[in-house]
Amino acid sequence: MTQITRSSTDTVKGPADWFTGDVCIDAVAGAPVPSRGTASLVHFVPGARTHWHRHPLGQTVFVPEGAGLCRRHGGPAEAVRPGDRVLFEADEEHRHGAAPNRLMVHLAIDEGDDDHAVVHWLNPVTDEEHHAATPAAG
Ligand code: MN
Repeated sequence: MTQITRSSTDTVKGPADWFTGDVCIDAVAGAPVPSRGTASLVHFVPGARTHWHRHPLGQTVFVPEGAGLCRRHGGPAEAVRPGDRVLFEADEEHRHGAAPNRLMVHLAIDEGDDDHAVVHWLNPVTDEEHHAATPAAG
């Protein structure tokens, strides 16, 4: 017999003080104690991106679909494609999002506990900065 595990968790729109452009967030896994791991599936419309931010315990994102880019503070923009996995180290300032002309979906795997917030949000990324940071196709 077919078994379907129903989701009862609403999709959340990414708030404007975290993201630029339209972003939808679905909770994939929570962190019941003693776990401190969480996972979220995040859809970025073309050009949408996070603000600069850092994760006190680091973050891994896996890209199942679309075309995106990520950037570490002080580093070059790097293209990410389906199948790519990116590790952002603890407290490393960075951002991630969709290429200007393409949707991007990523699964974000995060950690947090009573002593470590999952994320600290910093400044937004302007259109000019985002477009200038777009790497050549390839
Ligand atoms: Mn991040």
